[in-house]
Amino acid sequence: MRLSRGIDCECAGASACPDGSNNGTCTTQVNGYCFATVEEVETEAGLVELERTAGCLPPDESGFMQCKSSQVPHRHPKVIECCNESDLCNRRLQPRLPPYLSGTEPPALEPAPGPAPSLLVAAALGVALVAFLAAALLLCRRRRRAGKRPPSPPAALPADLSSGSGSGLPLLVQRTVAKQIQMVESIGKGRYGEVWLARWRGERVAVKVFFTTEEASWFRETEIYQTVLMRHENILGFIAADIKGTGSWTQMLLITDYHERGSLHDYLQTAVLDPPALLTMAYSVVSGLAHLHMDIFGTKGKPAIAHRDIKSKNILVKRNGQCAIADFGLAVRFVAERDEVDIAPNTRVGTRRYMAPEVLAETLQVTDFEAFKMADMYSLGLVLWEMCRRCAAGDRAQQVEPYALPYHDVVPPDPSFDDMHAVVVARGMRPPIPSRWAKHPAVAALAALMAECWHHNPPVRLTALRVKKTLAKFHADCDVKLV
Ligand code: ADP
Ligand code: MG
Repeated sequence: MRLSRGIDCECAGASACPDGSNNGTCTTQVNGYCFATVEEVETEAGLVELERTAGCLPPDESGFMQCKSSQVPHRHPKVIECCNESDLCNRRLQPRLPPYLSGTEPPALEPAPGPAPSLLVAAALGVALVAFLAAALLLCRRRRRAGKRPPSPPAALPADLSSGSGSGLPLLVQRTVAKQIQMVESIGKGRYGEVWLARWRGERVAVKVFFTTEEASWFRETEIYQTVLMRHENILGFIAADIKGTGSWTQMLLITDYHERGSLHDYLQTAVLDPPALLTMAYSVVSGLAHLHMDIFGTKGKPAIAHRDIKSKNILVKRNGQCAIADFGLAVRFVAERDEVDIAPNTRVGTRRYMAPEVLAETLQVTDFEAFKMADMYSLGLVLWEMCRRCAAGDRAQQVEPYALPYHDVVPPDPSFDDMHAVVVARGMRPPIPSRWAKHPAVAALAALMAECWHHNPPVRLTALRVKKTLAKFHADCDVKLV
């Protein structure tokens, strides 16, 4: 319905009513819309809360586009609904965040056209999804054991399964996204596949194409990205996953946000950081890791996740100077209700150069989830060291160490397990801290923190949340601006 005047809308939330709002209402222009949004926000204490905002939107084009914006996949979890049938119509709007794996409601592909689907349909879809995941997992395991390639993986993906894809897009939409992609150029190679820059609807995206032998990694990484509440500005944004193929070949894709600055490893080769840029980077990586490690309780809670392959090649640099953690092929989740790790983890995984002493000594207790988090913290300490070397800390700003991998001076380029064991465990060596780092408080503070991260004794190491808080406090005390 269109009115010849603007309509009054409920106005709530600071960003929607910047001038304090007129008695909690605002008036739209002619043909404008009322809206209501719900968004996940993380509190200081690390808890996740839902925040409702309501207000007025301009007519057509821009306003209506905003009403559709909950379809945009790679944003912080936020959903918007709009109405224009009567004054204060947005008081009745109750936007809900899309469902996660445990969710009860399929997400709408179109912006809230009508009443929510019945719980029954939703439950059926939920069960179908769980069944699909279980079947796919079994399939993966069986094939891995048989050492064969799958004949036709898409057959395992029910064609009518159109919802319930965790914190990403509905599965059918993900498949459509995968079909609409145009590959542009190869931008990176890793252990499990090749990463391409691609275009999707005019936007640049990254597509990881897994080697055919690595379906378990594709499955694992896809599963982790779709974990409830996984989205965070310092974790690579997931868009879609797909698996396609014929009898003789299979292609497994993972589509994510693209970051043109590439990996931290590549970026630090040439970039020189000033102390605020260093702090921004360090703070963002540790925020991403703290989010990953965090357990959020409740029906839509988030399990704690350990990465198990933290290194500068698995961290991307965003245009705003913050980082995003990527490559979840080895990650493990902790299922609190069952008090167990979600897959049977082995001790010797990850990148040898970044392996914690207890991983090298094979004493890590795989039944103790905290142990995995502590091992991540060791690797994080090494990454902080890589960053600090590239920070021009003193007054004579050009004095920095050349980029180097940790232990570059004491092990060969592709170190063996025994090489690393000899250095890190037997000799107890750690990367050297140059004396110039003491000249700037930010770098000196990070130097102290990294030493507490790579401590030989895992329980003594700092947690990600502790490092995050210390850096935030440092920022407040020293007035060093974080971007
Ligand atoms: P693997 O599991 O094979 O190690 P990664 O996910 O770590 O694959 O990616 C390999 C490399 O590709 C990274 O080190 C990085 O250089 C590049 N890369 C990966 N994802 C992106 C992205 N989203 N944007 C830009 N570069 C990326
Ligand atoms: Mg990698």
